[in-house]
Amino acid sequence: MSYVPVVDPDECMAHGDCVEVAPEVFRLDDVAVVIGAAPLELLLAAAEACPAAAISIVDEETGAVRYP
Ligand code: SF4
Repeated sequence: MSYVPVVDPDECMAHGDCVEVAPEVFRLDDVAVVIGAAPLELLLAAAEACPAAAISIVDEETGAVRYP
C-alpha cells in the first residue's frame, strides 16, 4: 500500500515548512506542489508540520484519507 500527499492550494500559505521536512516530495511555487514520493512516516511528518493543515495523505489506490 502506498500513500501520496495532496496539497489544497486554497489553504496553502506557501511558507515552505513541508519543503524543509521533505524536499524530495514538495517544491514551493506559488503554493506547494508535489514532486515526488516518500515513505509514509515522512509524508506524515510533512503534513503535521504544515501550519495551514493544507496537506492530506491519501491511499494512492483507494483514495482513502490516511491523514488528517
Ligand atoms: S507547509 Fe503547508 S502551508 Fe506551508 S508550503 Fe507546505 S503545504 Fe503550504
